[in-house]
Amino acid sequence: MELLDLKEQGIDIKEQIPLSRYTFTQTGGAAEYLAFPKSTEEVEKLVKVTRENKIPLTIIGNASNLIIRDGGIDGLVIILTDLKKIEVKGNKVTVDAGARIIDTAFTAAHHGLSGMEFAAGIPGSIGGGVFMNAGAYGGEMQEVVESVKVLTRDGELKTYSNKEMEFSYRHSLVQDNGDIVLSATFSLKPGDKLEILDHMHYLNALRQYKQPLEYPSCGSVFKRPTGHFVGPMIIKAGLQGKQIGGAQDSTKHAGFIVNKGGATATDYLNLIHLIQKTIKEKFDIDLHTEVRIIGKEK
Ligand SMILES: Cc1cc2nc3c(=O)[nH]c(=O)nc-3n(C[C@H](O)[C@H](O)[C@H](O)COP(=O)(O)OP(=O)(O)OC[C@H]3O[C@@H](n4cnc5c(N)ncnc54)[C@H](O)[C@@H]3O)c2cc1C
Repeated sequence: MELLDLKEQGIDIKEQIPLSRYTFTQTGGAAEYLAFPKSTEEVEKLVKVTRENKIPLTIIGNASNLIIRDGGIDGLVIILTDLKKIEVKGNKVTVDAGARIIDTAFTAAHHGLSGMEFAAGIPGSIGGGVFMNAGAYGGEMQEVVESVKVLTRDGELKTYSNKEMEFSYRHSLVQDNGDIVLSATFSLKPGDKLEILDHMHYLNALRQYKQPLEYPSCGSVFKRPTGHFVGPMIIKAGLQGKQIGGAQDSTKHAGFIVNKGGATATDYLNLIHLIQKTIKEKFDIDLHTEVRIIGKEK
């Protein structure tokens, strides 16, 4: 079977679609093929056909932690945001990979479940959040994930326990083995609904105050090096506000790079490289990107 045969089976597959429509930075080249599966079965069919036809496969969630190079992505890109069921049973919440982390946190809160307050403003999907071990304000996915259901690139369905996910700072097992997260189950604690919601609104107000949410961005660009904070180092190096093309190191939060209008992925990457080079020269510290950089050069 060929990839496009799956269209006849009702799977939504498009060709040559600019991914800047989907990325939070509003940059990035086109996907050769782009699919929006509506069920796990559709994901399985897409993975099988790409494996059999040796078509490269890229998985994307909400594209809030991604820079896709301006040359785009060869092969098939799957965006999982149509898989978005959130199910609450007792103190467990089981969530499809494409559901938003924010919606999950608020659903849990409305059921009087505590534990996901930290995630109230993280704009990714559950799949991306698990993949990244996303975290904020002292909390991380690793603290609330009970198990993760994945599809391996060989087409096997597996469930990993929290321990098997090998979570660490902005890292998880699926970054190393390429498994596709299909859903995750969270184990939360009963709490007072209004207190939980209050805390979430407080954290989101802090976010609003500190982060340049008025512009497109991909959140914190760099991982925090042990013992240092990225923003203050960038400020000390004189790079806050530095702009290349349409990409600017944010004047509100130096750890963010915002799209001031018309930025390309190349502008983002040139500014990232300039910051890395300058921080190395001035402080002898290697800054590694938290944002994932994929795709090919133009
Ligand atoms: C304004 C703003 C604020 C942010 N604040 C935070 C924050 O406080 N804390 C934080 O940790 N992050 C933050 N982020 C970054 C981002 O929201 C998180 O990293 C989030 O977890 C990414 O999820 P996503 O669905 O957008 O992933 P994507 O950007 O779509 O993908 C990221 C990586 O995950 C992989 N991936 C995605 N889904 C799957 C899947 N189902 N299976 C396998 N691999 C998958 C992709 O291949 C890619 O390598 C912020 C981003 C923005 C724009």
